[in-house]
Amino acid sequence: MDFEFTEDEKMFRDSIRDFLEKEFVPIADERDKKGPMTKEEAIDVMKKFKKIGVALDPESTKALFAEDPVIFGIVSEEMGRVWASLLPLFGMSALPAIFAPLASDETKDRLMPKLERAEFIGCFAETEPEAGCDTSDIKTTAKLEGDHYIINGNKTWISNGTIADVALVGAKDLSTGVESFFLVEKDVSPFDTNELHKIGWKANPTAEMFFENCKAAKENEMSAMMGKAFSDPKLMELLPLSPGMMNLLGQMSPFTALMTLPRAGMGLASIGIAQAAFDASVKYAKERVQFGKPIGKFQLIQEMLYNMNVLIETGRLLGYKAIDAINKGSREARRLSSMAKVYGGEAAVKVTYDAMQIHGGTGLSDEMPLERYYRDARMMTVPDGTSEIMKLITGYAILGKGFSAYA
Ligand SMILES: Cc1cc2nc3c(=O)[nH]c(=O)nc-3n(C[C@H](O)[C@H](O)[C@H](O)COP(=O)(O)OP(=O)(O)OC[C@H]3O[C@@H](n4cnc5c(N)ncnc54)[C@H](O)[C@@H]3O)c2cc1C
Repeated sequence: MDFEFTEDEKMFRDSIRDFLEKEFVPIADERDKKGPMTKEEAIDVMKKFKKIGVALDPESTKALFAEDPVIFGIVSEEMGRVWASLLPLFGMSALPAIFAPLASDETKDRLMPKLERAEFIGCFAETEPEAGCDTSDIKTTAKLEGDHYIINGNKTWISNGTIADVALVGAKDLSTGVESFFLVEKDVSPFDTNELHKIGWKANPTAEMFFENCKAAKENEMSAMMGKAFSDPKLMELLPLSPGMMNLLGQMSPFTALMTLPRAGMGLASIGIAQAAFDASVKYAKERVQFGKPIGKFQLIQEMLYNMNVLIETGRLLGYKAIDAINKGSREARRLSSMAKVYGGEAAVKVTYDAMQIHGGTGLSDEMPLERYYRDARMMTVPDGTSEIMKLITGYAILGKGFSAYA
């Protein structure tokens, strides 16, 4: 058992921390207040990340998600620590990006250069107005007509939706009733969007999306793309799947297996937000004097610092333990990543609340990053699976067959 990052991981953590502090700490508070990034701003962010190797072309995604998944945990935690709005921009673009090299030749010709230049913005469109947690009830349909699927339906709460070039859209195949995912390119088959407003992740666009007779090439359906990869070792090489993830894919449904990594990442990103709020609180507790003493000398302040610190330490251990389970392809990956997401998100809510309390009136000012941490922390318990659903997945993993809460 080793609780330390390797030397390479430490070097990576230091370089991404340094990069985020230089590029985004000076602008995050001001920019966040102005609302969703434009597409140009989002591409500018992606290009900056590309310079440190955090990008969505196949070579970079392999390094981020497959060669050492701890690197993905570090990226999540460090982004959370500085500006949580960066997370969905990057994370939700990654899903269609991973499938782009497996798409039809025409789609590849359009998308691969964008991926190489870090000009690719994507989204993952699954949630619908009447199908949130219960994704089995989606109404969006895909009808095969010749060599294209025709997609019809509405999606909601989709990160990056208004600025995405490509959407990976969940839809039920009309001939089988089975759900699959389809790459829909906006330039080829335009879809409409409408901006949604929310309390946190303010710089990240969130959208309603309307697909009306949108076309997706037959080859751009998920099982066709996966089938192509599994029958061609060269294409398989392009997928950022660690040996552990390959093992998970053999044990559970592809969606269940693939979601383990982003859920562990959400847990660690939440811990990043909490860490930023905690660091600010420690500094303030030493500096702020009341009753002739720094407030850090008061036992009730120390108790808050204790509570915050233990939540952060536990959430971080759980997050990296989940990543370790994914890396090993252990069945425990699903339970641990669900727990890491709930625990991290709820820890971030509690820690940012206490951080504001320690700062007194200053904590409630909108001049301080604390209010951004507090709003962003509150976002972490819903997207990518609500806390309740994560708890039910954990319950099922503990109790076993016959105990699914949905059945
Ligand atoms: C900022 C943001 C970004 C998002 N980004 C994306 C995205 O990029 N792509 C995408 O597809 N979706 C995205 N989502 C949607 C997100 O995944 C859903 O909001 C989430 O799955 C919950 O669905 P819902 O909001 O419809 O809540 P509902 O499903 O209506 O749930 C309402 C409440 O009931 C609880 N609940 C539901 N079923 C059960 C049950 N069986 N047992 C106990 N409690 C239950 C829920 O936990 C919740 O507390 C995003 C959401 C937000 C807020």
